[in-house]
Amino acid sequence: MPASPDNPCTACGACCAYYRVSFYCGELSGGSGGRVPVELTSRVSAVIACMKGTETGNGRCIALTGELGKEGISCSIYANRPTPCREFSNWLADGTPDPDCQKMRARIGLPPLSPVKTGST
Ligand code: SF4
Repeated sequence: MPASPDNPCTACGACCAYYRVSFYCGELSGGSGGRVPVELTSRVSAVIACMKGTETGNGRCIALTGELGKEGISCSIYANRPTPCREFSNWLADGTPDPDCQKMRARIGLPPLSPVKTGST
């Protein structure tokens, strides 16, 4: 799928290779009813896990497939990804690009995103 203004992530992946992706252990598969594959995670504390590869930050998530900044990069567990991945948005509620997303894109040499209309104009 080509990158589009609606989904620039399909040719980016920068945030999946920078932040520590940590979340409550209740999201893990196996017993607790969660869906994030436990074998792809590391334990941070008694109640917190993180995606393997992201433990110390500035590392690539084990579930990320493809080349950073190129068409076709994707999450191999998209339907079962943890909460922080689901909550990260490219744009703020007012349509302004998220500054953290902009920083991550610049870090891998991608151009900034443009603001989007929010329907309130
Ligand atoms: S689980 Fe998927 S969306 Fe979340 S950081 Fe890893 S590759 Fe990215």
